[in-house]
Amino acid sequence: MHTSDPLEQTLARYWGFATFRPLQREAMDAILAGRDSLVVLPTGGGKSLCFQAPAVVRAGLALVVSPLISLMKDQVDTLVANGVGAACFNSALAADERASVLLGLREGRYRLVYVAPERLVGSASTGFLDALPRPEFVAIDEAHCISQWGHDFRPEYRQLARLRDRYPGIAMHAFTATATARVRRDIVSQLALRDPLELVGSFDRPNLTYRALPRTGLKRQLEAVLRRHAAEAGIIYCSSRREVDALAAWLQTSGIRAVPYHAGLDDADRHRNQDAFLDERADVVVATVAFGMGIDRPDVRFVVHAGAPQSLEHYQQESGRAGRDGLPAECILIYSSADFLKWRVMLERNGELTDARRALLREMERYAASVGCRHRHLVRYFGQAYEPTGCAACDYCLGELEAVDDPVSTARKILSCVARVGQRFGVAHVTNVLCGSDSETVSSRGHQRLSTFGLLKNVPSAEVRGYIEQLLADGLLRQTDDAYPVLTLTADGVALLKDAASRPELTLVRQARPSAERSGARRTPGTESWSDAEHALFDRLRAVRLQIAHARGVPPYVIFHDTTLRELARVKPDSVDALRGIYGIGARKAETFGEAFIDAIREYHQSQGA
Ligand code: ADP
Ligand code: ZN
Repeated sequence: MHTSDPLEQTLARYWGFATFRPLQREAMDAILAGRDSLVVLPTGGGKSLCFQAPAVVRAGLALVVSPLISLMKDQVDTLVANGVGAACFNSALAADERASVLLGLREGRYRLVYVAPERLVGSASTGFLDALPRPEFVAIDEAHCISQWGHDFRPEYRQLARLRDRYPGIAMHAFTATATARVRRDIVSQLALRDPLELVGSFDRPNLTYRALPRTGLKRQLEAVLRRHAAEAGIIYCSSRREVDALAAWLQTSGIRAVPYHAGLDDADRHRNQDAFLDERADVVVATVAFGMGIDRPDVRFVVHAGAPQSLEHYQQESGRAGRDGLPAECILIYSSADFLKWRVMLERNGELTDARRALLREMERYAASVGCRHRHLVRYFGQAYEPTGCAACDYCLGELEAVDDPVSTARKILSCVARVGQRFGVAHVTNVLCGSDSETVSSRGHQRLSTFGLLKNVPSAEVRGYIEQLLADGLLRQTDDAYPVLTLTADGVALLKDAASRPELTLVRQARPSAERSGARRTPGTESWSDAEHALFDRLRAVRLQIAHARGVPPYVIFHDTTLRELARVKPDSVDALRGIYGIGARKAETFGEAFIDAIREYHQSQGA
């Protein structure tokens, strides 16, 4: 090792990492200096390392508060595999496991101990707290749980400031991926952080490609996504349990290893399906938003929303589960105006349709139908500047959206059709009339005699629907909040009908074919430069990983990430010594798993030579 810096040494020795990610160094220094801190880094930004590495460098014990048992377990399994003493203490432990952890604490066997907030405050806390030696510092993961403005409010988080009464002068460090200033202020005040160092990273996730498509035929649209990601991991979010079950069943009959997940399944089924996904026995989870928190599978290659979420905050959170490993991944929003309506109706029914909620919904709607770089849109929404002029990773920048030549005249055809049917019909009917469909509903109302009948008969109906969505988002059309929503004209819409020049800046786009399909790109992302041999070896190494993971009862990513396997396939080390310097292989993992992988590489060589 060529460095005398203890943090760098620790990183290399235990994690097999050569450099820090942005702001990690600063966050670690704050912990080593005992200064309170609040660290905001995007998902996959490397927050856990920020408190884990200092916990190894400092003597003594670090106390980590984490909201979910599955999160804790993954982190502890990974730490132990890396040779760092760590444990979690929670309700999932059997009595003897608990006793063993308490003993381990007394004997000073751990550098980190993970607990749920319930263990630290309230009546469930005494047994644990009494056994706990005074920690060196407290790290609070997913700290946005403290705020009602966040998306996963946990009341017990509010009482964590009391830890200071028990441990006067102790430093507290909060970590979250949730960016808004309001949540940040809440965290600082609720935890009573003292002069905290605030580190806020860039919220952009450059490895994610964003696409948004009007929902024109969900199954066909999903098929296109799945073709790009054959045998890769993905999540499909639906807005109802019924849709989850139906889509999961459909995918299964199409030969895709898919499982459903929603709150209506009983606990055993839910756990089984979640585990199947984590253990790579399933590739695709079809789920409601009940699925996701605590899902740390890093190689999720796509997240589809079959229906818009209620805010961009939610979208960012949910879509952000793609590509935690930093490799390319895709986030696709398949939306329709009915989604937004459904949210309005639901929020209204619950008495929650405040101006703020309406505004959040509108922002979501604007994103869906926007014509511009989606990375920029998201980054700006979360209050940061976006410098690049093109991201090369969204449908707009990839040229997948083609601007319509005469948007104003197309818009006027649609608006006048809405007027002709008396502003008493919904998207489907208006589309039928415009496309000149001789359906029963059209003819029974005599709408085939309207002057607008067949005005867009050369345009596919899916595309017409897409235009209507854009006009809704643009405020030229509105939809009523009814069970059978009806399209009506807004004042701006009427103005455009009267005067074609009233909206000179209007743009309408249609979907071109995704560039990945057009170029016939390989499905494994970021591997364009790979030889077939490297692909084959990579697949073998994955099988070795799966075997080891099953034998140990941990998810495969606890053993090695794909990034590590890719480097192994490329470098083809032939001895345990040669593993040094491979991304993600520290001393302990080299020792424990090295042989198995080197054997696989050697066998592969021989089979090639033969
Ligand atoms: P977060 O909690 O911020 O979502 P994680 O802590 O899970 O992110 O880290 C995301 C991934 O990045 C993990 O696979 C982790 O091992 C990896 N990682 C973190 N820090 C580094 C680093 N300095 N160098 C290389 N990989 C890193
Ligand atoms: Zn872009």
